[in-house]
Amino acid sequence: MYISSRNKSNKVKSHEAIIQGLATDGGLFTPESIKACINPADLIGLSYQEIAEKVLCTMLEDYGEEEIKDCIKNAYDDKFNHPEIVPLRQIKDGYLMDLWYGPTSAFKDIALTILPHLLTKAYEKENRNDIVSILTATSGDTGKAALSGFADVPHTAITVFFPEIGVSPIQKKQMQTSIGDNVEVIAVKGNFDDCQRMVKEAVSSKEVLDSLHNVTISSANSINVGRLVPQIVYYFSSYSKLVEKNVIQCGDLINFVVPTGNFGDILAGYLAKLLGLPVNKLICASNANNVLTDFIRTGTYSLKREFKTTMSPSMDILISSNLERLLFMLSGNDDAFVNEMMRKLKEEKEYTIPAEMLSKLQESFSAYWTSEEDCADTIRKLFNEEHELIDTHTAVALAAMNAYKKDTGDTAPCIVLSTASAYKFSHDVLQCITDEDIPDDFEAMEQLHTVTGVEIPKNLSGLKDMPVRFTRSIEKEDGMHVIAQRMRELGHD
Ligand SMILES: *Cc1c(COP(=O)(O)O)cnc(C)c1O
Repeated sequence: MYISSRNKSNKVKSHEAIIQGLATDGGLFTPESIKACINPADLIGLSYQEIAEKVLCTMLEDYGEEEIKDCIKNAYDDKFNHPEIVPLRQIKDGYLMDLWYGPTSAFKDIALTILPHLLTKAYEKENRNDIVSILTATSGDTGKAALSGFADVPHTAITVFFPEIGVSPIQKKQMQTSIGDNVEVIAVKGNFDDCQRMVKEAVSSKEVLDSLHNVTISSANSINVGRLVPQIVYYFSSYSKLVEKNVIQCGDLINFVVPTGNFGDILAGYLAKLLGLPVNKLICASNANNVLTDFIRTGTYSLKREFKTTMSPSMDILISSNLERLLFMLSGNDDAFVNEMMRKLKEEKEYTIPAEMLSKLQESFSAYWTSEEDCADTIRKLFNEEHELIDTHTAVALAAMNAYKKDTGDTAPCIVLSTASAYKFSHDVLQCITDEDIPDDFEAMEQLHTVTGVEIPKNLSGLKDMPVRFTRSIEKEDGMHVIAQRMRELGHD
């Protein structure tokens, strides 16, 4: 069962949690308890899809095995431009887990190619025929992956809010050219946190609730359990690959380094650990928005800082939603504690967790942050020395891995989660490598290809000539009004 982090008696089955997205009390659905019930030794030699089946059947117990198999078959197919779905790339100091072979070239595709299928099945179980309206806030990559996953999916409509200034030009063009009759894309004059707040507020806004007629609001953000669970799979599959390559023996501890924004990806790693994966440390890598680095080191989460826009925009976040789930789990499902911390965050802009909880947290997590300069150096050095190309987010994590190793002397293998194709951030990546400043991102993409010889993903090279469909831009204060209006339109259908 899944219970809300703000009211543990709000308890639902996984398919209901997937329909609801955020709990109506504002909390996040979190597994009530997790047992170490997946033995990595049983996964050796299995395909990505087979490992996904084991993980999903364990975490989504109310779905039948055939239903899960069906979802997996429809999600992890030739939409992914790699037969292994998530391959592992060896570099001198560790491994890169390439999570960006999906249809929009970012790791969000892993969960957002399967979420529509999980949601459709959930709907069949409930025998419902209202419209699910997916409200999604994006720092750049979730938006396009969700638009692609939900385009023309029956009984669904999707609205994506992105920060007008902050996403990369390619991310913006990807979203604005989306196809599908049930999609809508809106720019917000604000940052990601403003977009996320809008989406979270909508589920309890009177204006929005009054406008719902045969419409249910859900979310494709990582606050949805259906996002989180599919992300557990690649922690297991990459571990298996290291065993198969004889780098480790089954049971050996390894580290994962995760470029982190909303804390969804790294939380999936923590769930993998609780399920039985031998993980030593999950290393939380941040950019200059280093609120999580400070929190994991000191126990104080403080918003009293400036929001910065960086070369790794998908991590330009100050309010990491999924951290709430970690607090809930570490406190032994103490909803009163979580409510108190969230109240402090809202009213006092900071909170501090008790010392015992901090040391429990530090048993599993370490944290480092990477400056813009170190990020650029990391990209250039890896390309010049090893001819390997990475994007700006992955570089933040690779630099964090180097810092962790230097600090601790830990020699256990490290897997860095490589979360996007470098071509999504062509201008910046090119500039890191060659110092050229080509303002047009599509020209920069061509030039990056000329310099590196690395293939450009088809969805990105084809983007240049796609017509822009969505140009609407709103003030953040108008969010509830805009959402209510959209709900009324959908309800009339
Ligand atoms: C979303 C994203 C991240 C951060 O993942 P979270 O789950 O939000 O922590 C990192 N890198 C890229 C490229 C992303 O799109």
